[in-house]
Amino acid sequence: MFDKILIANRGEIALRVLRACKELGISTVAIHSTADADAMHVRLADESVCIGPPPSKDSYLNIPSLLAACEITGADAVHPGYGFLSENARFAEILADHNLHFIGPKAEHIRLMGDKIEAKKTAKRLGIPVVPGSDGGVGPDDDAMAIAKEIGFPVLVKAAAGGGGRGMKVAHTADDLALAISTAGNEAKAAFGDASVYLEKYLQKPRHIEIQVLGDGRGGAIHLGERDCSLQRRHQKVWEESPSPVISPEARARIGGICAKAMQDMKYLGVGTIEFLYEDGEFYFIEMNTRIQVEHPVTEMITGIDLVLEQIRIAAGGDLPVTQDDIVLNGHAIECRINAENPVTFRPSPGKIARYHPPGGLGIRIDSAVYQGYTIPPYYDSLVGKLIVHGKTRGECLMRLRRALDEMVVDGIETTLPLFRALVREPAIIDGDYHIHWLEQYLAGAQLESR
Ligand code: ADP
Repeated sequence: MFDKILIANRGEIALRVLRACKELGISTVAIHSTADADAMHVRLADESVCIGPPPSKDSYLNIPSLLAACEITGADAVHPGYGFLSENARFAEILADHNLHFIGPKAEHIRLMGDKIEAKKTAKRLGIPVVPGSDGGVGPDDDAMAIAKEIGFPVLVKAAAGGGGRGMKVAHTADDLALAISTAGNEAKAAFGDASVYLEKYLQKPRHIEIQVLGDGRGGAIHLGERDCSLQRRHQKVWEESPSPVISPEARARIGGICAKAMQDMKYLGVGTIEFLYEDGEFYFIEMNTRIQVEHPVTEMITGIDLVLEQIRIAAGGDLPVTQDDIVLNGHAIECRINAENPVTFRPSPGKIARYHPPGGLGIRIDSAVYQGYTIPPYYDSLVGKLIVHGKTRGECLMRLRRALDEMVVDGIETTLPLFRALVREPAIIDGDYHIHWLEQYLAGAQLESR
């Protein structure tokens, strides 16, 4: 097992990793930018190192500074959390070159899945069903039109290097295609430095269903069921739940079995998520994330498996914690991502939290790094915290969530709490009857009471 882990992240995920380390008896090193000197993860870690000024590129993404912090503190492993360097294969390799463990998958798998065109080819080869589309990248001068016509409009132009919903454009008709390809390519070039794009059938009313996997790197792998992340705004997840209201035990066993088998064949190491769109009973692979996800707690709540703790144990050479047959899904869990944003315009609202009262009671979990008097800096993401609720049934979970949302107080800044208070009372949500475009359609018509 590792002796000392450097947590190369901030916010709630840094705290989440720190908690797992403490339970495993591993010493922790927090790193932080000058803007985060008062952050909770810094206060609770055994040691901390300031690694630069506020902009992420000078601090949380600064690899030489991170290496220096490992050297100074004698850390023997690095946990990257999510975002920042978590899916940077080069970072994993650099750490290995310095005799440091990267708590994540093998660099080759991070690289493979980071290129969405290659990822799709790999998925297809491993027997995972994919969205119909171009087999590789397309350029404006290629026979993109022929491919698009074969797929059938509308088609979605997606960036090979995409992430966070950027570099994606819909072409509804043949007339839109050239413009969609050039806009998506330019956006991808600006955001990721790579303009390659590919085409996919644009699904009209799918759900976003993702499968959590865990591999030991030696050919052992299991799946931990699905998460339904269909409530999205601008391709960003807002609300996640497990199990999905629309996936039957048979469908779960089928797609989960395909994913686990694929991970066994790859000899995948650590935690991963295989993302699908789901429409008319069919699953279509869109991408794989080779890291812990923001929404991992809903899986933890219904399986009782601590994914971050197991991620660390497995990275240190440990075995899978359970066999597939041992996994029992218990009840239902929902996570709300509460952001420091205006609930109507979604304009970021950083600033000082004047009053903070998290909800409590049976089945309530808060993963957050804020506290009363804490100032949310303007430089990073706007997550205030994740409210995760567990119940024996989906109905009980919704009832408890309604109560928890009403109890929660975050004053001094604007948050998306009013949005969730409205959502949890919406008939379509209560019935579990929603798809990936539902929330944006709802927001276009909703009158939210700000409170
Ligand atoms: P990113 O890496 O940017 O998150 P993804 O490929 O995971 O991109 O897609 C993000 C979201 O975009 C999906 O959850 C879904 O809402 C939407 N999306 C992606 N592919 C399609 C598609 N073929 N048809 C319709 N919507 C899609």
